[in-house]
Amino acid sequence: MNFIFSSCGNVSVALMQWAIENLSGETFVVYSNTGWEAPFWHERVDEIKIYAEKNGLKFVTIESEGMEALVRRKKGWPMAASKFQFCSDELKVRPAREWMLEVDPDLKGKCFTGIRREESEHRKDAPSFIRQSERHGGRDLFCPLVNFKTEQRNELIKKTGIEILPYPSMECFPCINSNRSNFRMLSNYPDIIDHIEKIENEMGYTRNGKKRTMFRPYRHMGAVGIREVVEWSLCSRGKYKKPDLENEQLSFMPCSSGFCGF
Ligand code: SF4
Repeated sequence: MNFIFSSCGNVSVALMQWAIENLSGETFVVYSNTGWEAPFWHERVDEIKIYAEKNGLKFVTIESEGMEALVRRKKGWPMAASKFQFCSDELKVRPAREWMLEVDPDLKGKCFTGIRREESEHRKDAPSFIRQSERHGGRDLFCPLVNFKTEQRNELIKKTGIEILPYPSMECFPCINSNRSNFRMLSNYPDIIDHIEKIENEMGYTRNGKKRTMFRPYRHMGAVGIREVVEWSLCSRGKYKKPDLENEQLSFMPCSSGFCGF
Protein backbone atom coordinates (compact mmCIF):
# COMPACT_ATOMS: atom_id res chain seq x y z
CA MET A 1 0.00 0.00 0.00
CA ASN A 2 1.28 3.44 -0.96
CA PHE A 3 0.27 6.89 0.24
CA ILE A 4 1.03 9.84 -2.03
CA PHE A 5 0.67 13.08 -0.08
CA SER A 6 -0.72 15.77 -2.32
CA SER A 7 -1.44 19.47 -1.94
CA CYS A 8 -2.59 19.42 -5.59
CA GLY A 9 0.14 21.95 -6.41
CA ASN A 10 2.61 21.47 -9.24
CA VAL A 11 4.97 19.00 -7.66
CA SER A 12 2.08 16.95 -6.30
CA VAL A 13 0.92 16.42 -9.87
CA ALA A 14 4.46 15.44 -10.86
CA LEU A 15 4.65 13.00 -7.94
CA MET A 16 1.30 11.47 -8.89
CA GLN A 17 2.57 10.87 -12.43
CA TRP A 18 5.81 9.43 -11.05
CA ALA A 19 3.71 7.06 -8.91
CA ILE A 20 1.65 5.95 -11.90
CA GLU A 21 4.86 5.09 -13.74
CA ASN A 22 6.81 3.54 -10.87
CA LEU A 23 4.59 2.10 -8.14
CA SER A 24 2.49 -1.02 -8.01
CA GLY A 25 -0.18 -2.12 -5.56
CA GLU A 26 -2.93 -0.12 -3.93
CA THR A 27 -1.96 3.55 -4.10
CA PHE A 28 -3.81 6.43 -2.47
CA VAL A 29 -3.46 10.09 -3.38
CA VAL A 30 -4.09 11.79 -0.05
CA TYR A 31 -5.33 15.38 -0.03
CA SER A 32 -6.07 17.34 3.16
CA ASN A 33 -9.06 19.64 3.33
CA THR A 34 -7.97 22.59 5.47
CA GLY A 35 -11.28 24.42 5.05
CA TRP A 36 -9.19 27.44 4.06
CA GLU A 37 -8.62 26.89 0.36
CA ALA A 38 -8.98 29.45 -2.43
CA PRO A 39 -12.50 29.66 -3.86
CA PHE A 40 -11.36 28.25 -7.20
CA TRP A 41 -9.16 25.48 -5.75
CA HIS A 42 -11.80 22.73 -5.73
CA GLU A 43 -11.75 22.73 -9.55
CA ARG A 44 -8.06 21.88 -9.50
CA VAL A 45 -8.61 19.18 -6.86
CA ASP A 46 -11.45 17.67 -8.91
CA GLU A 47 -9.29 17.59 -12.03
CA ILE A 48 -6.49 15.79 -10.19
CA LYS A 49 -8.93 13.35 -8.62
CA ILE A 50 -10.33 12.44 -12.04
CA TYR A 51 -6.85 11.94 -13.46
CA ALA A 52 -5.74 9.85 -10.49
CA GLU A 53 -8.78 7.56 -10.68
CA LYS A 54 -8.52 7.22 -14.44
CA ASN A 55 -5.01 5.88 -13.87
CA GLY A 56 -5.90 3.37 -11.17
CA LEU A 57 -5.08 5.43 -8.07
CA LYS A 58 -7.50 6.07 -5.22
CA PHE A 59 -8.03 9.72 -4.33
CA VAL A 60 -8.88 10.43 -0.70
CA THR A 61 -9.76 13.76 0.89
CA ILE A 62 -9.01 13.88 4.60
CA GLU A 63 -11.23 16.26 6.53
CA SER A 64 -10.09 18.46 9.40
CA GLU A 65 -11.72 20.92 11.78
CA GLY A 66 -10.66 23.69 9.39
CA MET A 67 -8.44 26.71 9.89
CA GLU A 68 -11.04 29.06 11.35
CA ALA A 69 -12.23 26.59 13.99
CA LEU A 70 -8.60 25.75 14.79
CA VAL A 71 -7.64 29.41 15.28
CA ARG A 72 -10.64 30.00 17.52
CA ARG A 73 -9.93 26.84 19.51
CA LYS A 74 -6.28 27.79 19.99
CA LYS A 75 -7.20 31.42 20.64
CA GLY A 76 -4.52 32.56 18.26
CA TRP A 77 -3.14 32.29 14.75
CA PRO A 78 -0.33 29.92 13.81
CA MET A 79 3.01 31.71 13.57
CA ALA A 80 4.91 31.16 10.34
CA ALA A 81 8.33 29.52 10.53
CA SER A 82 8.20 28.98 14.28
CA LYS A 83 7.41 26.20 16.71
CA PHE A 84 3.93 27.75 16.91
CA GLN A 85 3.18 26.93 13.29
CA PHE A 86 0.58 24.41 14.40
CA CYS A 87 -1.70 24.56 11.34
CA SER A 88 0.08 21.90 9.28
CA ASP A 89 0.15 19.49 12.21
CA GLU A 90 -3.45 20.05 13.22
CA LEU A 91 -5.04 20.33 9.79
CA LYS A 92 -2.99 17.80 7.90
CA VAL A 93 -0.43 15.68 9.72
CA ARG A 94 -2.56 14.41 12.59
CA PRO A 95 -5.76 13.80 10.57
CA ALA A 96 -3.72 11.97 7.91
CA ARG A 97 -1.99 9.83 10.55
CA GLU A 98 -5.33 8.91 12.09
CA TRP A 99 -6.80 8.01 8.72
CA MET A 100 -3.77 5.90 7.78
CA LEU A 101 -4.08 3.99 11.02
CA GLU A 102 -7.57 2.91 9.96
CA VAL A 103 -6.57 1.66 6.52
CA ASP A 104 -3.05 0.50 7.41
CA PRO A 105 -3.04 -0.53 11.08
CA ASP A 106 0.09 -2.69 10.63
CA LEU A 107 2.13 0.30 9.37
CA LYS A 108 3.17 -1.58 6.26
CA GLY A 109 2.31 1.25 3.87
CA LYS A 110 4.92 3.45 2.24
CA CYS A 111 4.56 7.22 2.23
CA PHE A 112 5.68 9.54 -0.55
CA THR A 113 6.00 13.32 -0.79
CA GLY A 114 7.17 15.53 -3.61
CA ILE A 115 9.59 17.67 -1.68
CA ARG A 116 12.45 19.03 -3.82
CA ARG A 117 15.76 20.45 -2.66
CA GLU A 118 15.71 23.10 -5.36
CA GLU A 119 12.52 24.66 -3.98
CA SER A 120 14.20 26.74 -1.31
CA GLU A 121 17.24 27.25 0.84
CA HIS A 122 15.25 25.71 3.64
CA ARG A 123 14.84 22.45 1.72
CA LYS A 124 18.31 22.24 0.21
CA ASP A 125 19.32 19.36 2.48
CA ALA A 126 15.99 17.55 2.49
CA PRO A 127 16.49 13.78 2.80
CA SER A 128 15.37 11.40 0.09
CA PHE A 129 14.27 8.80 2.63
CA ILE A 130 13.23 8.76 6.29
CA ARG A 131 12.89 5.44 8.05
CA GLN A 132 9.83 5.25 10.28
CA SER A 133 8.86 8.87 9.88
CA GLU A 134 7.12 10.13 12.99
CA ARG A 135 4.94 12.51 11.00
CA HIS A 136 3.74 9.54 8.96
CA GLY A 137 2.85 7.38 11.93
CA GLY A 138 6.07 5.38 11.88
CA ARG A 139 5.90 4.44 8.21
CA ASP A 140 8.85 4.86 5.88
CA LEU A 141 8.84 8.10 3.89
CA PHE A 142 10.23 8.36 0.36
CA CYS A 143 10.91 11.61 -1.51
CA PRO A 144 11.68 10.38 -5.03
CA LEU A 145 11.76 13.85 -6.62
CA VAL A 146 14.15 15.31 -4.11
CA ASN A 147 16.85 15.98 -6.72
CA PHE A 148 14.49 16.89 -9.54
CA LYS A 149 14.97 20.25 -11.21
CA THR A 150 11.97 22.31 -12.27
CA GLU A 151 12.33 21.13 -15.86
CA GLN A 152 12.17 17.47 -14.82
CA ARG A 153 9.16 18.22 -12.63
CA ASN A 154 7.45 19.93 -15.55
CA GLU A 155 8.14 17.01 -17.88
CA LEU A 156 6.13 14.78 -15.56
CA ILE A 157 3.30 17.31 -15.24
CA LYS A 158 3.06 17.74 -19.01
CA LYS A 159 2.28 14.04 -19.39
CA THR A 160 -0.90 14.57 -17.31
CA GLY A 161 -2.25 17.50 -19.33
CA ILE A 162 -2.89 19.30 -16.03
CA GLU A 163 -1.91 22.98 -15.95
CA ILE A 164 1.45 24.03 -14.52
CA LEU A 165 0.46 26.75 -12.08
CA PRO A 166 2.35 30.04 -11.76
CA TYR A 167 1.78 29.98 -7.99
CA PRO A 168 2.01 27.43 -5.17
CA SER A 169 -0.81 25.23 -3.94
CA MET A 170 -3.86 27.23 -2.86
CA GLU A 171 -4.97 24.60 -0.36
CA CYS A 172 -4.76 27.45 2.17
CA PHE A 173 -5.51 30.94 0.91
CA PRO A 174 -3.82 32.74 2.34
CA CYS A 175 -1.18 30.42 3.74
CA ILE A 176 0.55 31.77 6.82
CA ASN A 177 3.79 31.59 4.81
CA SER A 178 2.39 33.83 2.08
CA ASN A 179 4.70 36.20 0.30
CA ARG A 180 4.02 39.52 -1.29
CA SER A 181 2.76 38.11 -4.57
CA ASN A 182 0.31 35.85 -2.71
CA PHE A 183 -1.06 38.92 -0.90
CA ARG A 184 -1.40 40.74 -4.20
CA MET A 185 -3.46 37.83 -5.46
CA LEU A 186 -5.55 38.01 -2.29
CA SER A 187 -6.36 41.65 -3.04
CA ASN A 188 -8.71 40.34 -5.73
CA TYR A 189 -10.80 38.60 -3.08
CA PRO A 190 -12.32 41.30 -0.84
CA ASP A 191 -14.74 38.81 0.74
CA ILE A 192 -11.82 36.76 2.07
CA ILE A 193 -10.10 39.87 3.42
CA ASP A 194 -13.35 40.87 5.15
CA HIS A 195 -13.71 37.41 6.62
CA ILE A 196 -10.15 37.27 7.99
CA GLU A 197 -10.47 40.80 9.35
CA LYS A 198 -13.66 39.79 11.16
CA ILE A 199 -11.88 36.84 12.77
CA GLU A 200 -8.93 39.06 13.72
CA ASN A 201 -11.27 41.58 15.34
CA GLU A 202 -13.09 38.87 17.24
CA MET A 203 -9.82 37.35 18.47
CA GLY A 204 -9.04 40.52 20.41
CA TYR A 205 -5.67 41.38 21.91
CA THR A 206 -2.79 39.58 23.59
CA ARG A 207 -1.80 40.20 27.20
CA ASN A 208 0.74 42.67 25.85
CA GLY A 209 -2.01 44.65 24.17
CA LYS A 210 -1.10 43.50 20.65
CA LYS A 211 -3.85 42.70 18.18
CA ARG A 212 -4.12 38.99 17.32
CA THR A 213 -3.50 39.15 13.58
CA MET A 214 -2.92 36.41 11.05
CA PHE A 215 0.38 37.93 9.93
CA ARG A 216 2.95 39.42 12.25
CA PRO A 217 3.43 43.16 11.70
CA TYR A 218 7.21 43.05 12.07
CA ARG A 219 7.43 40.74 9.07
CA HIS A 220 5.24 43.03 6.99
CA MET A 221 6.78 46.43 7.50
CA GLY A 222 4.56 47.17 10.46
CA ALA A 223 1.24 46.46 8.72
CA VAL A 224 -1.30 45.43 11.38
CA GLY A 225 -4.11 43.15 10.30
CA ILE A 226 -4.91 41.49 7.01
CA ARG A 227 -6.23 44.64 5.34
CA GLU A 228 -3.02 46.55 5.96
CA VAL A 229 -0.89 43.58 4.97
CA VAL A 230 -2.65 43.38 1.60
CA GLU A 231 -2.32 47.16 1.22
CA TRP A 232 1.38 46.85 2.00
CA SER A 233 1.75 44.19 -0.69
CA LEU A 234 0.30 46.59 -3.26
CA CYS A 235 2.56 49.48 -2.27
CA SER A 236 5.96 50.19 -3.60
CA ARG A 237 8.64 48.99 -1.21
CA GLY A 238 9.09 51.17 1.81
CA LYS A 239 5.52 51.60 2.99
CA TYR A 240 5.07 50.34 6.56
CA LYS A 241 8.84 50.29 6.64
CA LYS A 242 10.90 48.36 9.16
CA PRO A 243 14.46 49.13 8.11
CA ASP A 244 16.08 45.79 8.85
CA LEU A 245 13.46 43.69 7.08
CA GLU A 246 13.25 45.25 3.67
CA ASN A 247 14.23 42.08 1.92
CA GLU A 248 11.18 39.88 2.14
CA GLN A 249 13.21 36.86 1.04
CA LEU A 250 14.78 36.98 4.47
CA SER A 251 11.40 37.25 6.13
CA PHE A 252 9.71 34.15 4.80
CA MET A 253 10.56 30.54 5.19
CA PRO A 254 8.51 27.77 3.65
CA CYS A 255 6.64 25.38 5.86
CA SER A 256 8.96 22.64 7.07
CA SER A 257 6.28 20.03 7.72
CA GLY A 258 6.74 18.40 4.32
CA PHE A 259 2.95 18.44 4.00
CA CYS A 260 2.35 21.92 2.61
CA GLY A 261 2.66 24.05 -0.42
CA PHE A 262 4.11 21.84 -3.10
S1 SF4 B 1 -0.57 25.47 3.68
FE1 SF4 B 1 0.18 27.12 5.04
S2 SF4 B 1 -1.57 27.76 6.28
FE2 SF4 B 1 -2.07 25.77 5.36
S3 SF4 B 1 -1.52 24.24 6.87
FE3 SF4 B 1 0.26 24.49 5.54
S4 SF4 B 1 1.55 26.07 6.51
FE4 SF4 B 1 -0.49 26.17 7.45
